[in-house]
Amino acid sequence: MSSVQLLYLIIGIVLVDYFFDQLLDFLNMKSAKSKLPEEFKDIYPPEEYAKSQRYLKARSKFSFLTTAFSTTLTVLILAFGLFGDLHIWLSAHFTSPMLHSLAFFGVLFLVSDIINIPFELYSTFVIEAKFGFNKTSLKTFWADKLKGYLLVVILGGGLGYVLLWLIFEWQEQFWIYALIVITAFSLFMSVFYTLLILPLFNKLTPLVEGELKDKINAYAERVKFPLDNIFVIDGSKRSSKANAFFSGMGKKKKIVLYDTLIEKQSDEELVAVLAHEVGHFKKKHVMVGMAISVVQMAITLYVLSLLIFNENLSMALGAEDLSVHLNLVAFALLYTPISKLTGILINMISRKNEFEADAYASTTYNPVPLQSALKKLSVDSLSNLTPHPAYVFVNYSHPPLLERLKHMDKFKKPE
Ligand SMILES: [Zn+2]
Repeated sequence: MSSVQLLYLIIGIVLVDYFFDQLLDFLNMKSAKSKLPEEFKDIYPPEEYAKSQRYLKARSKFSFLTTAFSTTLTVLILAFGLFGDLHIWLSAHFTSPMLHSLAFFGVLFLVSDIINIPFELYSTFVIEAKFGFNKTSLKTFWADKLKGYLLVVILGGGLGYVLLWLIFEWQEQFWIYALIVITAFSLFMSVFYTLLILPLFNKLTPLVEGELKDKINAYAERVKFPLDNIFVIDGSKRSSKANAFFSGMGKKKKIVLYDTLIEKQSDEELVAVLAHEVGHFKKKHVMVGMAISVVQMAITLYVLSLLIFNENLSMALGAEDLSVHLNLVAFALLYTPISKLTGILINMISRKNEFEADAYASTTYNPVPLQSALKKLSVDSLSNLTPHPAYVFVNYSHPPLLERLKHMDKFKKPE
């Protein structure tokens, strides 16, 4: 394919992807019901339901504006060959091809992040604040930004350097070594995330001795879950939305509970939420998920290895000769349809896993407190209870609440 045809193909993919997402958003908005549906009577109080509909509208409108803006910007940058211009401008300052590539990505990251800041501010301090979710201050916002930049420089820069070195050193064969490096890096992060990264942003304190801790430990012991420690994280520093997760590998697993979750749920509901998470481990969802992402990464890197030294791709983006970093950008855009498809596949697997984890929690603990915990979580986060099926199929990693509640009904013991 000539470089001009490639440019048209890339712009075409950007536009098709944009209109596809817009169509789904539109369908999702259309399927919102302004009147409280009968089956939600015992979930949402009417005024909260009306609020959830306003929240959905506000978020959809915001996402419509941001994606329209970023898509227009991307198409203009492509059409005017600005990626190529940046590459040529930087080549005057860097003689080493690796530093040239790193500088290119550094500038791209910084410029796109700065452009994004007004949108982030509006989302957090206007939309989220209006609906009572935002608990963060401007000070925390900027401190987070700074720490985020530092992490990008250290981790992103470090990993980027190694990957670029592999590309320059091993040419087309680089993808096998890159796969090993990326897999090792993500394993390392999944083990040490709670220990190294999370404390940079939040305060973690061990859960105090007491009834809740005893109940969690008793459950973990009963189902033989290797629980190492339970932490409480100050999620309330940023948002009133609640969460809980596990981290760690092998025999040392840590539970992290958001303080916002503890505040709103009873002990039984908290144990039920944890039982659901234990279900993910017991049913090997975590291990299978990791295996899937390694396979996915292998395919992506292999396809990349076929395109990374194609001169026409660089020229499509406005350069006069081959450039590895321009080809990486072109590849990222060309690959969107494939990553969309794999994303849909992974969401399908994830939704099936959620049902399995719900079933595990229902049989080893109790479906009733898990149902009430999920209802509370949905109301508190004003989540949309009537998403469009097509939107769910593409974007939802969890089944809609109503499906999960019905599924758990099957495990209820007859009174
Ligand atoms: Zn889950």
